[in-house]
Formats: sequence, C-alpha cells, structure tokens
Amino acid sequence: MKIIDILRQDKVTLSFEVFPPKTSDTYEVVAQATHEIAALKPDFMSVTYGAGGGTSAHTVNIASELSEQYGVDALAHLTCVSSTKEHVKNMLAQLKDKGIQNILALRGDIPEGGAPASDYRYAAELVRDIKSQGDFCVGGACYPEGHVESANKAEDIRYLKEKVDAGCEFLTTQMFFDNHILYNFLYRIREQGITVPVVAGIMPVTNVKQIKRITSMSGTYLPERFKAIVDRFGDNPAAMRQAGVIYATEQIIDLIANGVNHIHVYSMNRPEIAAGIQASLSEILG
Ligand code: FAD
Repeated sequence: MKIIDILRQDKVTLSFEVFPPKTSDTYEVVAQATHEIAALKPDFMSVTYGAGGGTSAHTVNIASELSEQYGVDALAHLTCVSSTKEHVKNMLAQLKDKGIQNILALRGDIPEGGAPASDYRYAAELVRDIKSQGDFCVGGACYPEGHVESANKAEDIRYLKEKVDAGCEFLTTQMFFDNHILYNFLYRIREQGITVPVVAGIMPVTNVKQIKRITSMSGTYLPERFKAIVDRFGDNPAAMRQAGVIYATEQIIDLIANGVNHIHVYSMNRPEIAAGIQASLSEILG
C-alpha cells in the first residue's frame, strides 16, 4: 500500500524505523530486530539508506522482506548526495522489481571534505527523477528547527515548498524534544501553502552517547525537563532507558492530543523500545 493512502485514513498511525547493517556479517542481527519490530504490526516501517550508498542492497532487501514476509508496508530511504542518475535509475529498478512502492527521497549529509561529484545537489531533484520513473509514493525530510545549512527557517521552508511542489506527497520530521517547536513549524508551513501530511519523528533517547551525537550533529534543542532527566539518570543505563522511553511516549501523547495524527518512532533496531512505546499507547491507538 502507498504510505500516502495510509496517512489519508482518518486515524492515528504509528510507524517504526530500522537501519541496515554496515557489513554483511551483521545482516542477520538486523534481520532479527526487523522481524521483532515488524511483529508489532506498525502502520508502516522505514529502512534508512547508508550515506554513500555502500549498503544500498541491504536497504532494498530489508524493505522487501518487510512487505513480503511480514506484510508490513515498507518505506525505503534513498539518498542522492554522491549519486549518479544511472545509480538512481538502477536503484529504482531494484525497488520496483521487489514491489516497493514508497521512497523517502533525501539528499544525504555532505561529507566533511565537501560535496562529492554527483548528478544531484538537492533532494527536490531526486524527487522529480523518482516521480518521472515510476508509480512511486515519494516522501521527503523536513526540519522543525530548520536544517543546519539553512540561513534561517523562512528560507528552509521556501525550499521545502519547492520539494513538495516537485512531487513530495508527505514529509517526515527530524527529531525534536519540545512539541511547541513542531506546532510552530506546522503553523508556518501551512501558512506557506504546504498542505501534505507531516509525520512527526520521535527519537526515544535511551543513552547519554546518543544525546551527545544528536546535539553535536544537528544542534537540536534540549528542554530543561529533558536535561534534568539526563543529569539524574545518565549514569544508570537501565534508568536512562526507561526514562527515555517514557519521555518519548509523553511527547507522543501530547502530539496526538493536539491533533498530530502520524507518529514515526526512530526505533534504531531496538524491538524492546518500539514495543515499550506501543504498549503504553495501546488504548490511544485503538
Ligand atoms: P534537501 O531537501 O536537499 O535540503 C538540504 C539543504 O539544502 C537545506 O538546508 C535546504 O534548505 C537547502 N536547499 C534545498 N533546496 C535548495 C536550493 N534549490 N537552493 C539552495 N538551498 C537549497 N541521511 C542518510 O544518509 N540516510 C537516511 O536514510 C536518512 N534519513 C533521514 C530521514 C529523515 C526523516 C530526516 C529528517 C533526515 C534523514 N537523513 C538521512 C539525513 C539527511 O540526509 C540530511 O539531513 C541532509 O543534510 C539533508 O537532506 P534533505 O533530503 O533534507 O535535503
């Protein structure tokens, strides 16, 4: 099923994410985690794409296992930052061949040494190519706090509108830890005529290392309430995991209560975290 048709239904949706293994010898570990998360029967699952495309075959395989073996609709990520048109054409042929209908079209992060030679500069160009080469449902990324490279939020939203006009049918947000940031963002994009469904991306932060990585990479705002949790439980892995799952769950409940119906959990190949969040929402999800 196409993700857009799932999002158009008048219901709350919960989706999870897995990332492919970096090397083939850990494929089975990821396949097992995927299997356990898929057994929770989320509305759909996304499979990320390794920067540089070196693990692209794993993304295609895991996405196709999701739909073929577990009956869960799959959203395959695809980046273009170091891609040629030929490589994209090849990836689209593989995805079509495996019956995958949904693609999250991304630029990918620019490597430290600068942008590599590529046929693409921005995700909108990839969106156009995908739409012209098959009957795919295409989504894109968006940034409630603004993308790190953007001069300001208004400029980022202007380019986001171009991406949607290029054929993006839905958007998934970067993680955020203060829901007011999302509400403000939704107001601003709607005002600029971006009307496609927005899926709120929630990251359950379950260890201190993760927090350091998040803040150094994306500069995401951490509310005082969140920092207090890290200060108090950061040295106790089990307590931090529990508190992180509860924080994410409370964020989700507040989002749903305020009319944000589509929630994507960055479940990071951790079935127990996906299951913990889903169990706490059982009556809310209906
Ligand atoms: P774009 O939409 O191209 O935007 C990138 C920057 O360029 C923004 O600052 C934008 O404002 C600006 N811009 C856009 N168009 C123009 C223009 N015409 N002129 C000037 N500036 C412009 N990375 C991976 O490697 N693999 C993944 O699987 C992956 N999944 C992700 C999933 C989500 C939900 C999110 C939020 C991010 C994901 N990323 C992934 C990270 C993503 O690739 C990076 O954040 C990347 O830096 C930007 O990608 P984008 O598709 O948003 O780029």
